[in-house]
Amino acid sequence: MTDLTIIIGGGLAGVTSFYELTARGLPCLLIDAEADVARGTSFANGGGLHPSLPDPWNNPGIGRHLFASLFQRDAPMKLHMSQLPHLAGWGMAFLRHSARKNYDAITRANFDLAEYSTRQTEALQQFLNLDYDSAAPGTLKLLRSQAERNEALRLADMLAAKGLHYETLDRADVQACEPSLAAAQGLVGALRFPDDGIGDARLFCEGLAAAAVKKGGEMRLNTKVLSLLVAGDAVVGVKLHDEEIRGRVVLAAGVAAADLARPLGVRLPIRPAKGYSLTLDAGHLGKARPHHLLVDPMQHIAITPLGERLRILGMAEFVGHDRRIDQRRLTQLRGFFTALLPDLAQQLDWEGAQGWAGLRPMSADGRPFIGASDAAGLWLNCGHGHLGWTMAVGSARILADAITGTQAEIDTAAFSPNAGQRRLR
Ligand SMILES: Cc1cc2nc3c(=O)[nH]c(=O)nc-3n(C[C@H](O)[C@H](O)[C@H](O)COP(=O)(O)OP(=O)(O)OC[C@H]3O[C@@H](n4cnc5c(N)ncnc54)[C@H](O)[C@@H]3O)c2cc1C
Repeated sequence: MTDLTIIIGGGLAGVTSFYELTARGLPCLLIDAEADVARGTSFANGGGLHPSLPDPWNNPGIGRHLFASLFQRDAPMKLHMSQLPHLAGWGMAFLRHSARKNYDAITRANFDLAEYSTRQTEALQQFLNLDYDSAAPGTLKLLRSQAERNEALRLADMLAAKGLHYETLDRADVQACEPSLAAAQGLVGALRFPDDGIGDARLFCEGLAAAAVKKGGEMRLNTKVLSLLVAGDAVVGVKLHDEEIRGRVVLAAGVAAADLARPLGVRLPIRPAKGYSLTLDAGHLGKARPHHLLVDPMQHIAITPLGERLRILGMAEFVGHDRRIDQRRLTQLRGFFTALLPDLAQQLDWEGAQGWAGLRPMSADGRPFIGASDAAGLWLNCGHGHLGWTMAVGSARILADAITGTQAEIDTAAFSPNAGQRRLR
């Protein structure tokens, strides 16, 4: 086998892997089907680097909510009837992992990776002087009921033992630390996580890919990998339309990872969970803009101040690989913003807002696959779901450690593709 490492996918997972491996002196080729990096799910995501929200979305009780969502058009997390046959194995695993014991264990493991990754993102930003509208304002997790507050506190206390910092805010404290919420209705309080950051993932990917190319990495854009190249049981490269390229392969293809791995018998339980975002110019609002990343966990909606812009994002729809924009969902995002920040809503140009939809690569157990797969020559960095920005740099470092035989800086066992019960049977 040649010394080349071929990375399939130029989103957050692929670009960070590309940079880490190139920086460690490995010859690397990144291949993406799109015309530039970060044109898939990493294009207009929420921008949150939030170790404070590491809990998987299959929380205890999720089965009931998903079943009910079949009959609710606007449910924040919605299962579409048409998907039932396609989600059978994945869905059973998703439900199985929602048991409280699993959920808590995965939340703790995700926190370790998210926290490590956020620190490493900051270090990389300083080292490379990357410009991606980064800031560290902290997150406000908005709470609307006592039950919600109790569960948020339970999780925060559990993670505080691992180093999470948080403050409990009542209604008056919320307004004092985030004046833009003065007119918000229905809040009982919030948790504030001061260490969370934000940044534009697309700008980050573009800057980091350029830095990797400067270090000698190569990119082939507008190039689709048709399949993996196999010799015996091993992966020895990739097949393109009119060419084969040989080398070790890193699969960082987001929601396409499962289909690329399937012919080898590597059954990755990763399915798309569609989300939406709306991005608006907000420079004219000056200091009246929200300062924090505002998250409403029950509605799966958040608002992020990104430089001179505001981004509203949310929803999780299980609707297959369909990336079309449903205007009703964008209207829902606008409605959420208007209810929370009515004064600011009147001052924004909604006609000029940029709507977007992306597919989160959601693993059935809520944690990513990072490391060697069952097939020799095939490495994985995929399945990061709603945490792909928060975990990107850390995941790439773990992967590069595994490939180069270096001791990782955190415990990586939970993310090993071969950890017990992770694959579909
Ligand atoms: C609405 C929304 C909000 C989000 N907000 C946040 C947030 O605030 N914080 C956070 O941490 N995460 C967030 N996420 C999640 C995060 O965006 C994703 O986890 C992350 O973008 C996934 O990155 P990826 O590299 O795995 O996939 P992608 O970015 O989709 O990259 C995969 C790439 O592979 C390429 N590809 C696929 N198949 C092939 C092939 N055969 N040949 C060549 N190229 C191929 C695609 O073109 C694509 O560029 C959000 C997601 C959504 C949808």
